[in-house]
Amino acid sequence: MKIRNASLSWIDSNLPFSKRFKDIYYSRGDELAESQHVFLKGNRLTAHWAEMAERESPFTIAEIGFGAGLNFLRTWHLFQKTQRKPARLHYIGFEKYPLSFDDLTRVHSRWLSLTKLSDQLRSVYSDHSSGCHRLHLGNEILLDLHFGDTLIQLENLPSRMQVDIWYLDGFTPRLNPEMWQPQLFQSIASHSKSDATLTSYSVAGNIRKNLQAAGFAVEKQPGHARKRHMLFAKNCQNKTSRESMLNNYGYGKYNIERAVLNQPTRSVLIIGAGIAGCSMAYSLAQRNWEVKVIDQAPGAATGASGNSQLALRCRLFQTDSELARFYLHSFLYTQRELRQLSKNNRINFHNCGVLQLVGAMNKQRDLNPNKLKKLYNEQVMQTLDVQSASKLANCQLTEAAYYFPLGGWIDGSLLCDTYLDHPSIDLITDQVVSSLKKNDNQWQLLGKEQKEIARAPIVVIANSHNASQFQQTYQLPLTTLPGQTSTISATDQSLSLATVVCGNRTVFPEIGNHHNLSASYRREGTRLELRPDDDQQNLMGAQACFQGDYLSQVIQSARVTVRCNSKDNFPVVGKVPNVSKLQDHSMLERHYGQIGKISSDYYLPGLYITAAHGSNGLATCPLSSEYLASLIDQEVPPFGQSIIGALDPARFIIREIRKKR
Ligand code: SAM
Repeated sequence: MKIRNASLSWIDSNLPFSKRFKDIYYSRGDELAESQHVFLKGNRLTAHWAEMAERESPFTIAEIGFGAGLNFLRTWHLFQKTQRKPARLHYIGFEKYPLSFDDLTRVHSRWLSLTKLSDQLRSVYSDHSSGCHRLHLGNEILLDLHFGDTLIQLENLPSRMQVDIWYLDGFTPRLNPEMWQPQLFQSIASHSKSDATLTSYSVAGNIRKNLQAAGFAVEKQPGHARKRHMLFAKNCQNKTSRESMLNNYGYGKYNIERAVLNQPTRSVLIIGAGIAGCSMAYSLAQRNWEVKVIDQAPGAATGASGNSQLALRCRLFQTDSELARFYLHSFLYTQRELRQLSKNNRINFHNCGVLQLVGAMNKQRDLNPNKLKKLYNEQVMQTLDVQSASKLANCQLTEAAYYFPLGGWIDGSLLCDTYLDHPSIDLITDQVVSSLKKNDNQWQLLGKEQKEIARAPIVVIANSHNASQFQQTYQLPLTTLPGQTSTISATDQSLSLATVVCGNRTVFPEIGNHHNLSASYRREGTRLELRPDDDQQNLMGAQACFQGDYLSQVIQSARVTVRCNSKDNFPVVGKVPNVSKLQDHSMLERHYGQIGKISSDYYLPGLYITAAHGSNGLATCPLSSEYLASLIDQEVPPFGQSIIGALDPARFIIREIRKKR
C-alpha cells in the first residue's frame, strides 16, 4: 500500500521533469494556457456544463496522469467562475507516482493565479499510499485521487462509473508505452457515458487507432502554440448496447435510484442515529437529499457511538488485501473529515496521536513489525521502541508500540450532533421501527400496530445490532458485543498522558479531570447491566500499559453499550440482498466467484444497510457512508469492486450457497 513518489529534477524555474520517464510534465512556455487550450477548451467544458445546469448528479471528469494537478486546478477555477453548471463536479485523478507534498508545493509556486485553490488542495492532499483518497473541496468539488497504475485502478472500478469527459495526460506514448496499451482504451470506453469526449496533447498513431477500436470517433485539432495538433475524440458506442452492457453487468433493468434522482424532492430515510446513521445523513444531505433520521431513543448517539472519547486509529493488516486497503482509506478519510469539521464547527478533533502497544491482546495477534513497515507509510504508522513511544506518551509505557500520528480522539456524541446539524436533515426520536414494507416504489417504515412512521423511495438501515430485526435482513449474521467503559479520576501524574494508548484497554488523555478506559467485551447477549467485574478488568488492562502505579484505581462511573459485529468481523455495507432470489442457484451460477459484481436484480431496490462496524466505527462509518451515497446518487464510488465485494451484505449468503454446492 506504500507508493513511490515522482522522482523529479527541475528545469527553468520550478518546472518539473520526470527522471523516471525522462519526460517533461509541461511544455516549456505557458503551461496554464496549454492546459486551457487542450483540456478545458478542447472538451468544450462550459458548453457541456450549461447543457447540464439542472442536473443534480455530478459532472464527472477523469484524468489519466494527475501529476501536479494543473488541469485539475484550472478546471476547478473555471467551474467556480461559471454561472450555468451542474450542482457538483466530481474529478477523478489517476496517478501512478504522486508528487510529494514538497514537490507539489514547489510546482504550484509557478501558478500565482491559482494560489488560493492550491492552498485548499494542499491542505488535504495525501502523497502516500496507493488506492483512492477521497477529498472534499467545499460542497461543489469532489476529488478522488486514485494512486497506483491507472489500468489496475480503472478496471477495478464498477462499469457503472460513467465519465463525461476524459483528460489523457500520461507522458508521451514513446516514453511510457506501458500505460498506453489497447486495454486502457477499452477500459476508458467501458467507463464512459455514451456521449463522453476526450482530449490529449498527443496525436500518436497508436492512440488514435486504439481509441477508434474502442468505439471513439477521433479528430486532430489545432494544438497549442508551436504544437501543430492535439487530439479530440467522442464516444460513439451505441447507447442501447451500452445500456444493455450495464444491465448485464450488475445494475439491473429498473433502477429505483435513477427514477428518484432528478425528482424535485429526493428523500431518504435512515434508521439509527449513531455514527453510521448520522454520517450517512451528512453524506446524503451534502448531495442535496432531504434526510429523515429515525431513532428509538430520545436523542442521537445513545449507543456505543455516544462515548465521550472515541479513538481514531487504523486497523492493521500485515499483507495487502482489499480489507487492508478499506481500513487504511477509511482511517485516512475520517481524519480528514474530522479535521475539516473541526475547522467549521464546535467539535474538536484531538489529533494527539494513538499508540497501539505491540502486545495488545484484543487487537490482532502476532503482527510482524517488519511486514507492517513494508506495507504502511510512516505518515500512517510508525513502529516505535518502548523509549520513543514513552516519550510521545509523556509517561513510561511497558511495551513498544505502533504509532498513528494522524490518529486521536473525538467526542462521539458531539460528532453525531455536528453531522445532524444540517438544514436538510431532520431527526425523529422515540420511534421504534418494527418493520419495513414496500408499497408503490416507496418503503414504509412501520411502528407499533403497523402504524406508518414515514415513507420514502430509499431507506438506509443503520441501527447497529438491531439491523437484522427486519424480515428483509434477518438472515444477515450480525452479532452483538456488549462492552463497558469505565471512568477514573485523573491524578497529578496521569495528567501528563499526551496520546491515546491502546493496550488490552484503551486509555484516553484526561478530560474534565478524569480518564476514560474502554472497553470490556462480553460475549453473551445484549443485557446492559453495569458490572463491577468489568470495571476491574478495565482497570487492570489499562494499568498494564504503564510502568508503576500510573493511574488512579478509583472508578467514578461506567457506561455499557452494545457494539455490532458480523460473522467474519468485517462491516456489512451495501444494498440489502433479495435472499430468496439469491438462493435460486441457477440464476446465480455465472456470478459465483464475483461477489461485488452481482446484478442489482438480486438486491431489494432502494434498501441499503451500513452495520457491523465493531469497535472501529469511527474509522469505517464515514467512508462507508460516502460509498452508499455514491451508490444512491449513481456516482463513481470511492473504492473498487474488490472492496465492494468484501463489504457486500450478500457475501454470507453466497458463501453458504457455495458450501452447499
Ligand atoms: N496532468 C498533469 C497536471 O495537470 O499537472 C501533468 C501530468 S504529467 C504530463 C504525466 C503524469 O502521468 C505523471 O504524473 C506520471 O507519473 C503519470 N503516469 C505515468 N504513467 C502512469 C500510469 N500508468 N498510471 C497513472 N499515471 C501515470
